[in-house]
Amino acid sequence: MISEQMIKRIPASNSSIFTGPGTNSYLIGKDDLTLVDPGPKIKKHLENLEKLAEGKIKRILVTHTHRDHSPGAKVLGERLGVPLMGRLLKKDDSLQDKTFQPDQVLSHGDLIKTNEYTIEVVHTPGHASNHLCYLVQEEETMLTGDHIMNGSTVVIAPPDGDMQDYLDSLELLREYQFSRIGPGHGDFLNNPMEAVNWIIDHRIGRENKVLEKLSLISPATIEALVKEVYDDVDKNLHPIALWSLEAHLLKLKNDGRALFDSSDNTWVIKP
Ligand SMILES: [Zn+2]
Repeated sequence: MISEQMIKRIPASNSSIFTGPGTNSYLIGKDDLTLVDPGPKIKKHLENLEKLAEGKIKRILVTHTHRDHSPGAKVLGERLGVPLMGRLLKKDDSLQDKTFQPDQVLSHGDLIKTNEYTIEVVHTPGHASNHLCYLVQEEETMLTGDHIMNGSTVVIAPPDGDMQDYLDSLELLREYQFSRIGPGHGDFLNNPMEAVNWIIDHRIGRENKVLEKLSLISPATIEALVKEVYDDVDKNLHPIALWSLEAHLLKLKNDGRALFDSSDNTWVIKP
């Protein structure tokens, strides 16, 4: 049963085009607190988390190591003397927070048990290869980090981001029982399976559009293609959409449905 006070959502003040209303930190529990995603190193936000926790934080979990989610972990972990948990960076890229070093590396299926609640670890690569979701079992709540956001579209940025992994990780969530989602950005979602299914449909729809547009204008550079495939999206967002488009194209290449010509950086439909 969900009790409102068991999981608190505390957004950081880092709203932007990438982060929507800001990165959500979560405090779980009453006396034995788990902090999930301390967010960026914003002094006021970290102080606010400490104040709300009243000295009861026992461990810090991160969903993944993008710079809007994990940099607060090191400084807060050191100050509070509590362990950091999450996964290591698999591939280095400019989006990663290199300061995060877990004291305990989590694996899929791990259980973090306290007297108040149990957190089940769900490995969900795709948005980032080291991405984890956390199911707070008693609260029927899946904390999804950037695997599922509320109000903004998840960016899949290769090489660490992978579209096939992302779709597989969405399918994986269908195997779990939960009645709400605590996303990494935006408010709680109370219709979890509807949200999961919508994202899967949206991604498959986008992939079909990539194939359709590519068949019309190929050979095409990714820069030419983004204007066609994302003609429903604000042009200012096209530089960001390029990442997800590349992720779609790489998936289609792996599926044997598209080909890349490195001599002139163009994509074509595989005949
Ligand atoms: Zn992220």
